[in-house]
Amino acid sequence: MKHPRILIVEDEAPVRQMIAFNLHRAGFAIDEADSCAAARTLVANNRPDLLLVDWMLPDSSGLELTRSLKRDDSYKDLPIIMLTARAEEQSKILGLDGGADDYVTKPFSARELVARINAVLRRSGVGVSEPIVAGILELKPDEHRLLISGKELPLGPTEYKLLSFFMQHPERVYSREQILDNVWGRNVYIEERTVDVHIQRLRKALHDSGAERYVQTVRGAGYRFSAEPEQAG
Ligand code: CA
Repeated sequence: MKHPRILIVEDEAPVRQMIAFNLHRAGFAIDEADSCAAARTLVANNRPDLLLVDWMLPDSSGLELTRSLKRDDSYKDLPIIMLTARAEEQSKILGLDGGADDYVTKPFSARELVARINAVLRRSGVGVSEPIVAGILELKPDEHRLLISGKELPLGPTEYKLLSFFMQHPERVYSREQILDNVWGRNVYIEERTVDVHIQRLRKALHDSGAERYVQTVRGAGYRFSAEPEQAG
């Protein structure tokens, strides 16, 4: 498998180099940018699998960079972890509202950073490169596309992550809390009913194809993904 490519956006050279050194040692391919402008150029020319974005940057804030990438259809699926020196709740919430997939508070250990990166990559389906087939659905992680009977069905980024998680873990019942942890991540302050909202959107997207029935409600327990034919009686 190829090494996931991480773009480190941080203007303080010693910090950036220390992160690059540790991530390189952990098996990642690394690009470095010292400003938002440099980051945008690198994202366009050598698309990373994940961005690490520092909050404080010289030309614009890391939050602004995150927001603008997440608003851009070409880049909205790029996972972003924000680095922040601010431990206050407010900045975490702002970062996640801006579209960041997770945040890490400085100072952090190399081990913690690598663990967070791997968790976000896993949730985003990076590293899973073989197509996953379930019934009439075919998920192509390399292309970040869902095909139904060979035809592409566009999905929102959250619905894609949700379906990707389900298709990697079929026939198992997951509680809303487990789905939140696996699809959104442990550090996200959202309510469990958000899961229901995105399940409904996913079902709606799958409705016309008949694959809606794969996303099953298990009363009192949560949800299960199953492409098996329904049991008679
Ligand atoms: Ca900085």
